Amino acid sequence: MRFDIITIFPEIFDSYFSESILKRAQQKKLIEIKVHNLRDYTADKHKTVDDKPYGGGPGMVMRIEPLIKAVQFAKSKIKNQKSKIILFFPAGKQFDNKMAIDLAKEYKQLILICGRYEGVDERIQKVIRNWKLEISELSIGPYVLTGGEIPAMVLIDSVSRQIPGVLGKTESLEEKRFGAGLPVYTRPEHFVFKNKKYRVPKVLLSGNHQLIEKWRKKRLKND
Ligand code: SAM
Repeated sequence: MRFDIITIFPEIFDSYFSESILKRAQQKKLIEIKVHNLRDYTADKHKTVDDKPYGGGPGMVMRIEPLIKAVQFAKSKIKNQKSKIILFFPAGKQFDNKMAIDLAKEYKQLILICGRYEGVDERIQKVIRNWKLEISELSIGPYVLTGGEIPAMVLIDSVSRQIPGVLGKTESLEEKRFGAGLPVYTRPEHFVFKNKKYRVPKVLLSGNHQLIEKWRKKRLKND
């Protein structure tokens, strides 16, 4: 899977993608992450990426020309394979784990557009559709962030863990068996804080794997 991120703050991504599981996934060539500075796709001296909104109002709008140029460049890197353009938008369709699974299965490239200011010139959607490419507006939750960079990290992280080989064997197996969100404990068996004892559920210490399995399934259903 190749991820192309279009942003005006490329450095934001440096540290997150250079650590842990996602770093390993890139080294193993299971995923490829390319970050594009939108300013590199402008044609004017000042590298302008935004302008005033038609109809008036506060805030600025991201200009369509550099965005389309950046998408065109990213798309040219993956020919004859399925790509999807994702526009982050607070009022877009709610992104969830099922979507992450489907994206990982169906596409070879995701081109992620990180909005800033008041958002992106609305015409981008029509242009991309007329170009016969797929585009979706996605939200990562019912709140407004300052930009689409955190949503891009969220999406790349959750889609990547669905790609075979990205997670360690045991980790992916546990998730498949029980689903996400299983409560877990480790040593010490008794943790004491301010004279109070916090214990590990007894069943987990019992060594009875059937009982443990039953407890885990129940805990997930109840949570
Ligand atoms: N008034 C604008 C609106 O309602 O769309 C707010 C834009 S927000 C300050 C700037 C950018 O951050 C958006 O264009 C989008 O790319 C991103 N963004 C903010 N919140 C988001 C969310 N919950 N999910 C996905 N993207 C979000």
